[in-house]
Amino acid sequence: MQVRLESIGCRLNIGEIEAMARGLAKAGHRVVGPGTPAELCILNTCTVTSIASRKSRQLIRQLKRANPSAALIVTGCDAELAPSEMVEIGVDLVVGNAQKERLLELAEAEGLLDMTPTDPDELELFEPGDSTRTRAFLKVQDGCDNRCTFCVITIARGAGRSVPADAIMEELHELQRLGYREVVLSGVHLGSYGHDFGDQRGLQHLVERALAETAIERLRLSSLEPWDLDAGFFEVFSYPRLLPHLHLPLQSGCDETLKRMARRTTRKEFSALVRDARRAVPDLAISSDIIVGFPGETDEEFEQSIALVEELAFSRLHIFRYSRREGTPAEKMSAQVRGPVAQERSRRMHALAADLEHRFNSKLVGNTADVLWETAEDHGQTLRWSGLTQNYVRVTATTSLDADLLNVVTPTEIVDVVPGGVVGRILNSEF
Ligand code: SF4
Repeated sequence: MQVRLESIGCRLNIGEIEAMARGLAKAGHRVVGPGTPAELCILNTCTVTSIASRKSRQLIRQLKRANPSAALIVTGCDAELAPSEMVEIGVDLVVGNAQKERLLELAEAEGLLDMTPTDPDELELFEPGDSTRTRAFLKVQDGCDNRCTFCVITIARGAGRSVPADAIMEELHELQRLGYREVVLSGVHLGSYGHDFGDQRGLQHLVERALAETAIERLRLSSLEPWDLDAGFFEVFSYPRLLPHLHLPLQSGCDETLKRMARRTTRKEFSALVRDARRAVPDLAISSDIIVGFPGETDEEFEQSIALVEELAFSRLHIFRYSRREGTPAEKMSAQVRGPVAQERSRRMHALAADLEHRFNSKLVGNTADVLWETAEDHGQTLRWSGLTQNYVRVTATTSLDADLLNVVTPTEIVDVVPGGVVGRILNSEF
């Protein structure tokens, strides 16, 4: 059967869809892209902002239009919070987040799919993500026990729970067998990994075990909440296969706003953590998330955010304009920030983020990085390859048309800075 898989939102959603692709491949199904008609479509939705929710529904309609006779299954946070609306727009099966891991099984029970394992010798040689088999997002944790007042994810995904380490090791071996060079360990609240098993240093132990028991070449951590880390955690970065990149969501640089957000950190604690991390890990890139226009954010509070973001010199910043999410405490807070004010704050924060990214990337010029090449664009006489450094900087490099760099890691000299990344010169003489 031809199955179209789509995901909106976070890396965790991508990881879940990739796991489904591996399950489908084992049963002999073929995952197809947008240009090929599908007999079944599966969409992992998102509701982190009102825009994400709108995009989820737009994609449902697009999938139906492009594949009118296909069955359509949706799962994920938007489907979890609005199942009846999904059915109204023509979805055949809605699978809640708690059942997501059993989605293929449930689809089979509904007669939408046959999941009988196929004899491996008869399998068409399909490997999930065939065209982009470079980095895999591996879900190791789901849910969250915190209650940040803006966050709908904690409502949609439930309490925190960790995937047992033995199952993760099996998945890592499988990803290695499929040829992935890099694995990103992902979770809603990754830093709490193992807490439900009573291991307060669970993530550190998981990383150590993954590096000791598998030969995955590059291991990366997705977003980590600052309060889960201490200076001792950074010792894990002494393993060179753990890539020197941390994504630490700050959300606001003002203590009063952080308190209203129920974030379990302060300006002082966050800054100290960043200092400890940089001291312990050379070449570390630290990226972050910021919300602008949170209810009650005054001009003075916003200026504190701007000042802290500048002082901490993040390598990259994801900026979210606060969006009211039903069922969250922040939705009911008084003093919602007016749209034009939030828009102007977003503009200023974006300008600062671009400047900081440029400053960080400029320091790489003249250095050599190991780049994992992921995609190529045809530019007539040449190919323009795009890849990632160890510390998560996007690199482009030009090669001849016959160079095949997909899923190859090369030493690359960084020669220039461009918006959104750097330009590299591949040092490997083969290319
Ligand atoms: S830590 Fe806060 S923002 Fe992150 S998932 Fe949990 S409640 Fe949401």
